[in-house]
Amino acid sequence: MLKGKTALVTGSTSGIGLGIAKALAAQGANIVLNGFGDVDGPTAEVAALGVQVAYHGADMSKPAEIGEMMAFATEKFGRVDILVNNAGIQHVARIENFAPERWDAIIAINLSSAFHATRLALPAMQAAGWGRIINLASVHGLVASAEKSAYVAAKHGIVGLTKVTALENATTGVTCNAICPGWVLTPLVQKQVDAKAAALGVSNDEATGLLLGEKEPSKQFTTPEELGALAVFFCSPAGNNVRGVAWNMDGGWAAQ
Ligand code: NAD
Repeated sequence: MLKGKTALVTGSTSGIGLGIAKALAAQGANIVLNGFGDVDGPTAEVAALGVQVAYHGADMSKPAEIGEMMAFATEKFGRVDILVNNAGIQHVARIENFAPERWDAIIAINLSSAFHATRLALPAMQAAGWGRIINLASVHGLVASAEKSAYVAAKHGIVGLTKVTALENATTGVTCNAICPGWVLTPLVQKQVDAKAAALGVSNDEATGLLLGEKEPSKQFTTPEELGALAVFFCSPAGNNVRGVAWNMDGGWAAQ
């Protein structure tokens, strides 16, 4: 379905981003990966799906590097048709103890990076008459949790950015939507499980059960594969008039 298209997925060396990159590659899209850590493993996993893969290591907290990455993707594949703004980090502390540098980093990586990548991707999508921008928000784009001030602010912000991007392009073939997962067992969440296990002196399994039980009625993790399938739907013809939604996949979290 996406053969001949190019998808750039930020923060795709791990977790949800890698899951979405693989789902889009399985539909035939060439992929630009981005993120830190191991690159060879994710590149091989995506290439095994029979598409072309490129990697750019832009630090998404740095607008100049985001510009270099967009130029690299355009040079490599001609155009970015699908932009998935996924890179994100977490930091947990009460506001009075929240380090200002952590606040700045979360706003830069989880929110401002999406603005920069979007503003740079839009002109070519508009000229082509087709484009998809998918923002990884969170259930924390819709509701809050204590000790996550920067994350909740960034994720509510990205839901707002999604709506504005969708409205400004509503008469074109360019759509923009947000995905709002509940808990997904990735390195970002494993750190929170580890912190809970250490704080309560319980096992990994018990800490995982407590984490899910607090917020997620289904008591199940959403998987990167399920999120990838939703991203594919947004890119399908059936998604042509889905504009500006914040779609939760959260086991009922926000329904409470
Ligand atoms: P993860 O830690 O597994 O992956 C994060 C990715 O972002 C990695 O590839 C990492 O290298 C990259 N990254 C981090 N900082 C970067 C930077 N400065 N520049 C470039 N890349 C950077 O996390 P994940 O759980 O897969 O999260 C992906 C997105 O999904 C995030 O936006 C996160 O907020 C969101 N999300 C996650 C969950 C969850 O439960 N895991 C739930 C809701 C939303």
